[in-house]
Amino acid sequence: MKCDKCGKEAVIFQKYSGMHLCAHHEIEDVERKIKKRMRQERMVVPGDHVAVAMSGGKDSAAVLSILVETFGARPDIKFTAITIDEGIEGYRNFSLPKVKELCDRLGVPHFVVSFKDDVGCTLDEMLTHDRKEASCTYCGVFRRTLLNTMAKWIGANKLATGHNLDDDAQTVLLNVMNGDTERLARLRPTRPQEGLVPRIKPLMDVPEREVALYAFLKGLPFYMGECPYARESLRGEIKDMLNDFEARHPGTKYSIMRGFDNMVGCLKEKYPQVPLTKCEICGEPGIKGVCQTCRLKERIKIAGKSPVKEQEKI
Ligand code: SF4
Repeated sequence: MKCDKCGKEAVIFQKYSGMHLCAHHEIEDVERKIKKRMRQERMVVPGDHVAVAMSGGKDSAAVLSILVETFGARPDIKFTAITIDEGIEGYRNFSLPKVKELCDRLGVPHFVVSFKDDVGCTLDEMLTHDRKEASCTYCGVFRRTLLNTMAKWIGANKLATGHNLDDDAQTVLLNVMNGDTERLARLRPTRPQEGLVPRIKPLMDVPEREVALYAFLKGLPFYMGECPYARESLRGEIKDMLNDFEARHPGTKYSIMRGFDNMVGCLKEKYPQVPLTKCEICGEPGIKGVCQTCRLKERIKIAGKSPVKEQEKI
């Protein structure tokens, strides 16, 4: 097949747009989508110090690369990479060197912090002690908190993540399936919350397979393996279902996000954003009383008598 724009050999057929694109025009198309979204939401502005959450996979590699390519020459904008090492044997130990390689190549400072250091045990160890929650619940909660803490610690005022179109469409469906409309409303925060570094998601309009292709075509180092726990979660099932739908009904993922954006205003009226309070144990922002991170830490300690560090009360 030939590229619909220039007649060269096509590397992808975008079923949702009906376009065949060559490597050059696919890269151009992905970058156009990312830059348009960054402009629309003023994601990066002069004076920003952006922390970039780096897992070592295609998404984070793509997001760091395009941020540096777009703004790297600007002396008034700074980027720092942060990696959370959850302690997943056979996964994170392979992806970490890829982050290091990319950060070295782009000249971006890189910090790593581990669950072992902060929580007191690795994710693998946690899960041998306690299986009451899904693996991704522990991982997601601790990682979110650590990313926020680290971003604040390095003095960043924004946190960029590699969430792509598929991730967002899965999250919307996941919350619908859980009947959690309040959480759905929180996916588009009205204003920044004290203590939480605002997040930006430059890849939110790019389908996952095109992020992978982009990272590959740009020659970025990234790890292709999948987390061994990924298939245990409901999200994994939703991912398969969505991919199946997308194959038969191209554009489904974009439609889900369009529908969500049309109704999120009503949801925000029903569930207005409530100011966060400080967790009674760790002092980090939370909904009320003790935050979810401290609750889970307590749970692991009880379940497995694992060496979870005590938090100082503040
Ligand atoms: Fe963590 Fe789940 Fe992602 Fe694995 S799939 S890295 S356990 S959130």
